[in-house]
Amino acid sequence: MNLARRGTETGTGHALVLGAGISGLCAARALAEVFDRVTLVERDTLTGDGTTRRGAPQGAHVHSLTVRGATVLEEFFPGFAAELAADGATLATALSEVDIVFFGSLLRNVPVGTVLQTSRPFLEDRLRAKVCAASNVTLLDGREAIAPLTTPDHARVTGARVARPGAPDTAEDLDADLVVDAMGRAGRGATWLRTLGYEKPVEQRMRVDVAYASRRYRLPPGALGQGKALLVGATPARPRGLVLTAQENDIWVLSLYGFGSQDHPPTAPDEFLRFAQELATAAAWEALRRAEPVTDVASFAYPHSLRRDFHRLRRLPDGLISIGDAICSLNPIYGAGMTVAALEAAALRGCLADGTRDLPRRFYRSAAKSLQLSWLFAALADRSMPQVPGTRPALAALLAKSFRATMRAAATDAEVATAVWNAVSLTGSPAGLARPRIIAAMLRNWPRTPTGT
Ligand SMILES: Cc1cc2nc3c(=O)[nH]c(=O)nc-3n(C[C@H](O)[C@H](O)[C@H](O)COP(=O)(O)OP(=O)(O)OC[C@H]3O[C@@H](n4cnc5c(N)ncnc54)[C@H](O)[C@@H]3O)c2cc1C
Repeated sequence: MNLARRGTETGTGHALVLGAGISGLCAARALAEVFDRVTLVERDTLTGDGTTRRGAPQGAHVHSLTVRGATVLEEFFPGFAAELAADGATLATALSEVDIVFFGSLLRNVPVGTVLQTSRPFLEDRLRAKVCAASNVTLLDGREAIAPLTTPDHARVTGARVARPGAPDTAEDLDADLVVDAMGRAGRGATWLRTLGYEKPVEQRMRVDVAYASRRYRLPPGALGQGKALLVGATPARPRGLVLTAQENDIWVLSLYGFGSQDHPPTAPDEFLRFAQELATAAAWEALRRAEPVTDVASFAYPHSLRRDFHRLRRLPDGLISIGDAICSLNPIYGAGMTVAALEAAALRGCLADGTRDLPRRFYRSAAKSLQLSWLFAALADRSMPQVPGTRPALAALLAKSFRATMRAAATDAEVATAVWNAVSLTGSPAGLARPRIIAAMLRNWPRTPTGT
């Protein structure tokens, strides 16, 4: 038995993680507990200077980490939130600090745990420093994965060919016992499967036609009183939303979004602010008007959510798994993508505890469970928007009425508010919203208007 084979069966040996975004970093953390060596390969040259990078342009936009996501990161790195807070991150601990307005109602104050607020580059830079502090983890940045290496019969992936971006003559082969595709939603790993003669996973696409525009500002401490974040969700009648959150060191981000091209936010600074004014509370608008912009307005088009059903594939090669957005990319307005990536890495950790035999199949089954509820919740919420292509008007109206009624109840009723918070922070199941007591409260608040919007 050769070394690579033995390594794969015992879980020792070399793991190669392609992509050093949130899912790649969390996966590397889980793998470093089991493998002798872990190499992270990242196409971007990483500066760690807190700026948005080419391979993760979404970093210019709000990147809220749910309470559940923060809990998983804390399990991987005990003391992480406190360290980030000491470094300037914002921690919110009550809804008196976070105003959430969904379907026209303000969620009443209930205990929320600790909400960690930072920019994506700030979070990622610190996560990367933590992961790479392990003596068996090496980062190879400025290298692009271009092809898998396999056994002649393609039954096992044995590494990857990497090269400097745009310089194929620099190609080198990296052997590994396990290759992890954490290269994002483009789905390179899924394409590799087809190249190797396997079926590609079925792709479920949910067209949402959402676009973001965001700008970062410096705001003096207390600019919003004790407020640290404001979330105003889209409604069917006004399919536009706003998120304003304190991130690190007095820097805030204002992200605007809209469903459908007519409601996509503009990027011209004056129009961008006018769009914000329509949605912001008076206090937030007052603060924004005086705020000092520290970036240009960045935009991001998000045409569809995407899920690849790797767990349904009958044949898979050994030695290759995909993780994070490569499996599931959720409509970002629900702020769940990084949490799902962290949960999948936790699922990987759980699978590795039972060794690496049949790892891809076991991992995909476990990952599918981790993301199922978030996918369902996002799909239901998206379907309440008539602007989402393919949504039946009757279904959209029914869903919108039920969300509106639930939020009306959540404005005053602590139990309903807690159920809503648990669903959006992923600390509980969205099924908690279907409890008889919550449904009764919803029915008492059922809107009388024809559309309920
Ligand atoms: C506008 C927007 C806002 C969002 N807001 C939130 C939010 O508020 N909260 C939240 O939890 N999530 C949010 N998300 C989702 C979140 O960004 C992702 O779900 C999360 O980052 C997980 O991504 P990942 O690590 O799997 O992929 P990515 O973050 O896409 O990372 C992939 C990495 O792979 C690298 N790469 C790509 N190809 C190669 C290659 N060939 N070789 C080597 N490296 C390669 C890339 O450079 C990149 O570093 C948002 C997304 C968008 C688009």
